[in-house]
Amino acid sequence: MLHNPPALSDFGRIVVKVGSALLVDSQAGCVREAWLASLVDDLAALHAEGRDLLVVSSGAVALGRSLLHLPRGPLALEDSQAAAAVGQIALARLWAEALGGHGITAGQVLVTLGDTEERRRYLNARSTLGRLMEWRAVPVINENDTVATNEIRYGDNDRLAARVATMASADLLVLLSDIDGLYTAPPAKDPAATLIPVVERIGPEIEAMAGDSASELSRGGMRTKIEAGKIATAAGTHMVIASGRVDHPLEAVAGGGRATWFLASDNPVTSRKRWIGGSLEPHGTLHIDAGAVAALRRGKSLLPAGVRRIEGGFARGDAVIVRGPDGREIGRGLVAYDAEDAERIRGHSSADIPNILGTHGRAEMIHRDDLVIGQA
Ligand code: GLU
Repeated sequence: MLHNPPALSDFGRIVVKVGSALLVDSQAGCVREAWLASLVDDLAALHAEGRDLLVVSSGAVALGRSLLHLPRGPLALEDSQAAAAVGQIALARLWAEALGGHGITAGQVLVTLGDTEERRRYLNARSTLGRLMEWRAVPVINENDTVATNEIRYGDNDRLAARVATMASADLLVLLSDIDGLYTAPPAKDPAATLIPVVERIGPEIEAMAGDSASELSRGGMRTKIEAGKIATAAGTHMVIASGRVDHPLEAVAGGGRATWFLASDNPVTSRKRWIGGSLEPHGTLHIDAGAVAALRRGKSLLPAGVRRIEGGFARGDAVIVRGPDGREIGRGLVAYDAEDAERIRGHSSADIPNILGTHGRAEMIHRDDLVIGQA
């Protein structure tokens, strides 16, 4: 049974992933400027409606390659890393100028696998993206290809974009590529293959449809897109695969154009809270006073001033249990300080943190977005 696909206007925070083959014409070795301008028109329209936008842009290696006049064919790892160093500067300028033409500020964010997988770095990356969006800037994100070696790299921006989307609690991830969606079989091999408009759950039959061949010049094929879909939908983010081979590709999606939607059953806030409350193993306990318990129940963050006693050897970003004066569990959350620093600032006002630690840390011991309060 098919559900109607959602509308683009349903979403408040959208990650748009752009593949290399869309940005760079590899035959001519140049940027597809007119297409980029049409995409940025669409982005600017969404931005003007007050939506938060993040762009995950591939193209560093492809651009570097053309700027350096490197020969066709596969590149050795060090060659593609060096090409990415050259291409990434150009890529960032391209986005900054294109968005800037609409009065939108771009911020370059380069991430590696560890930034989204290690919890302490994850919190940093998450709050940086959050701040950029508060400033109404558009983060333009890519993998830090010049330093990411094989063991520590995503290698494809499909999964990277899905991680970014979950990290930023985006409610939609749009994958623009040179194919307009998922087909019942790889269309190049099977001319009778048909497009699937809505996937409600990614099961083995959906994975089988992806085949294993890459569909683009870039690294990701349909398989990495399905992997991205699993990451996104499990975290409450809907995903849509749509063609970037048309001008105004987001307008096309908004107008109900051909695409495959992967539906999430939860929303990002609920799934994140479930993740914090249920799936993470706690590494310590914060015992808090009655005033802090009352504040938490009113939906506030936990400040250092309300913390009386600390147990455990947790690191920043770890899950901890929060207990009230009677020892009862109040909730769980991701703590913003390592245990040693938490011990030093507990009981103190947030304004004293720079004096005590010698650095400007966060005002909260656990930010309310990172906190799940149990039933009273
Ligand atoms: N990060 C790579 C680049 O900018 C692209 C990875 C991909 O093609 O998915 O060239």
